[in-house]
Amino acid sequence: MLRTNFCIFDSIMSNSIIKVRNLVKKYGDFEAVKGISFEVKEGEIFGLLGPNGAGKTTTLEIIETLRPKTSGEVIVDGIDLDKDPQAIKNIIGVQLQAAGYYPNLNLKQIIELFSGLYNKDVDAMALLDTVNLREKAKSSFKDLSGGQKQRFSIATTLINEPKIIFLDEPTTGLDPQARRNLWELIKQLRERGCTVVLTTHYMDEAEELCERVAIIDSGQIIALSTPNELIDKLISTGFKRTKAVKEANLEDVFLNMTGKEWREG
Ligand code: ATP
Repeated sequence: MLRTNFCIFDSIMSNSIIKVRNLVKKYGDFEAVKGISFEVKEGEIFGLLGPNGAGKTTTLEIIETLRPKTSGEVIVDGIDLDKDPQAIKNIIGVQLQAAGYYPNLNLKQIIELFSGLYNKDVDAMALLDTVNLREKAKSSFKDLSGGQKQRFSIATTLINEPKIIFLDEPTTGLDPQARRNLWELIKQLRERGCTVVLTTHYMDEAEELCERVAIIDSGQIIALSTPNELIDKLISTGFKRTKAVKEANLEDVFLNMTGKEWREG
């Protein structure tokens, strides 16, 4: 399924909010990203999939202006990364690293601090509500469970009311309820007009959420399409699952027994 010469930079995709062309990232002699090109359409949920070490986070962080690229071109909402990275920062939502969560501040205070820095008037409690953390408003980040930390980090991407949100493995470590609830949150963000770019190792998540996905392997894009088209293409080669699929799986059993609501406040 190697797609080596697809030219996706043409004017057909005029509604693209992100354009990446021939992006290369070298760490010393090692080429982690090998000249990839893709576009993300305004308002879509776009997934970057690929094995560990494929170059997903590197690609994401270059677009987010957090890592320097070696060569290539990145245009975000018409802004050239080389010319005005600050203007890109202003319109994107990025999950803050844990180091950004000042240990002496509680969750509400962290949101208020960043709202001030972004010069936005954000209702911190309403934002905490969206990720079901109202009850933890007075807790510090370090005292949260893994899933709560993950949810808070997603809430922080929304503080500056971004046009585009980047989520790197947003549901890793979450229980099935929290995962599904975050899927709903991500869909709501798209309904509000946000473009979402995410990485995930969960193919069910990509299938559920993403309009289109790029599969990256060893720094190259080897497929880029809708999940449905990719599945149909595989089936057309005569592929058959070795194991019959039952009407339900273990996750269905788990959710059926434990419910779908958030399990930790
Ligand atoms: P994962 O699914 O494991 O998160 P990934 O697809 O996000 O992987 P990257 O984190 O982008 O992969 O890493 C791509 C490659 O670049 C890996 O081989 C990694 O070891 C290497 N790499 C990443 N950051 C650095 C760095 N700062 N210095 C040197 N090599 C790096």
